[in-house]
Amino acid sequence: MTLTVHPPGPHLHPDAAAFLDRGPRGLLIGGEWVRAASGATFATRDPATGEHLAEIARADTADVDAAVAAATEALTAPAWAEMTPAARGALLWRIADVIEEHADELAQLETLDQGKSWRTARFGEIPAAVNQFRYYSGWPTKILGETIPTSLSRTPPGKQVFAYTRREPVGVVAAIVPWNSPMLMASMKLAPALAAGCTLVLKPAEDTPLTALRLGELLGEAGLPAGVVNVVTGYGGEAGEALATHRDVAKVTFTGSTAVGKHIAAAAGADLRRVTLELGGKSPSIVMDDADIDQTIEAVSRGIFDNGGQVCVASSRIYAHRDVYERLVEGMAAFGSSLRLGHGLDPHADLGPLVSATQAERVDAFVAEGRAAGVDVVTGGRRDGPAGTFYSPTVLTGVREDMRLMREEIFGPVAAVTPFDDLDEVIGWANDTRYGLAASVFTQGLSNAHRIAGRLQSGTVWVNCHSFLGPELPKGGHKESGWGYENGAQGLENYLETKTVVAVI
Ligand code: NAP
Ligand code: MG
Repeated sequence: MTLTVHPPGPHLHPDAAAFLDRGPRGLLIGGEWVRAASGATFATRDPATGEHLAEIARADTADVDAAVAAATEALTAPAWAEMTPAARGALLWRIADVIEEHADELAQLETLDQGKSWRTARFGEIPAAVNQFRYYSGWPTKILGETIPTSLSRTPPGKQVFAYTRREPVGVVAAIVPWNSPMLMASMKLAPALAAGCTLVLKPAEDTPLTALRLGELLGEAGLPAGVVNVVTGYGGEAGEALATHRDVAKVTFTGSTAVGKHIAAAAGADLRRVTLELGGKSPSIVMDDADIDQTIEAVSRGIFDNGGQVCVASSRIYAHRDVYERLVEGMAAFGSSLRLGHGLDPHADLGPLVSATQAERVDAFVAEGRAAGVDVVTGGRRDGPAGTFYSPTVLTGVREDMRLMREEIFGPVAAVTPFDDLDEVIGWANDTRYGLAASVFTQGLSNAHRIAGRLQSGTVWVNCHSFLGPELPKGGHKESGWGYENGAQGLENYLETKTVVAVI
């Protein structure tokens, strides 16, 4: 039976409808909304139905050049460069307020474009984006240099050396974000970069440009000077490539796949451009025999099924002590099969579609490969919906450690659950991956929890929870999951250079 998907019409917010009705969407360059120089456009669609949502400008090198030029000009223009830190902080807070005031509309645009359930967008990701701006609004007034006592033998007699450091914005930032949580990913880059005094060119993913475009409008309403944030929409290999390799871009901050991240890092090497990379993961969860099983079932199920598993830190590999393994598999299967699939704007839907038919095909291919190799599909494993974009929450058992299912990021609602008997062995399995983004451990044993946390090769380790993220918590990938950290004080460092001033006085 094919899943019935109710059209979103009756639930559409008038502001979201008005935004879509305004016709083809341009690029934001230097405070103006302009067509691509070539006049080219592309369509963005609702993944639940395949319905056309809007025509979007398709930027190429010429448009990226113009956007980088606008950001370069804005970097030293008095309206931005001479804004006091207190005013910059107040502006970031105002941006948070404006996003919050438009939360219903932004959440609907995100749902329409990306597919995610409206509840996830409205009560999870849009508020999390607001929190990014609120958190970093406190930082501009606290970016401090140091005075340094020197012992230099060249100090002329009777003179002193006065030495200090200044922290300065790194320059023009290229922010390139993926399609899984577009508004939140963009805010995680914009908020600290603006706090540091940088200017940016933002490129959203081609599948999900809408909230970045609406955000561009709202930034102007909040009072951000023209050219400080520019938005270019287009294809990764075209606009993204031109932006990531631009000579006048001082810093690339990229969230996306490990493959594209490596390519960006290699290109940056030629010019020694600064790069921060937030990349893929294959995050393990270890469930000890003394875990609170009901709490664990909910945490790991949400960890892999929320947002259709299109989450970089998704709990895709679950290792359960043999004594609790069967209960965990049954519990996850029950949790997964209880989730209702539907259009993201349908208030009864727990899960929307995946972002595109291509992504759903990719997920299905992983599961089909497992089936052919004798993996047991306990629940799920079904692609559905009018556009073939829905994927049922899937629990697999019998996945061997050497299978692609266990080694590669699927980015879908597919969990592999495996029993273990020995702690050293399971830590070996958990760490036997080129990724190192996140991990979790479930146990009532305090000592065990923190000892295991110390042994896991991972940028974040959660204890008795999964996917707990916030702007104050540094987040980054070990190994091939990334370079550098976002969020917290370290997130701000991404956008600052140090200048040492040495004066004979
Ligand atoms: P992707 O293909 O790497 O794309 C990410 C962004 O890069 C998109 O805007 C894309 O544009 C652009 N892009 C593609 N090729 C480019 C190039 N040659 N030069 C410059 N930019 C280019 O990743 P995705 O499939 O959209 O997103 C899923 C991936 O993101 C997963 O691997 C996931 O783990 C990762 N992710 C990581 C985190 C984290 O914090 N670590 C968070 C979320 C997601 P187009 O879309 O137009 O191609
Ligand atoms: Mg779309």
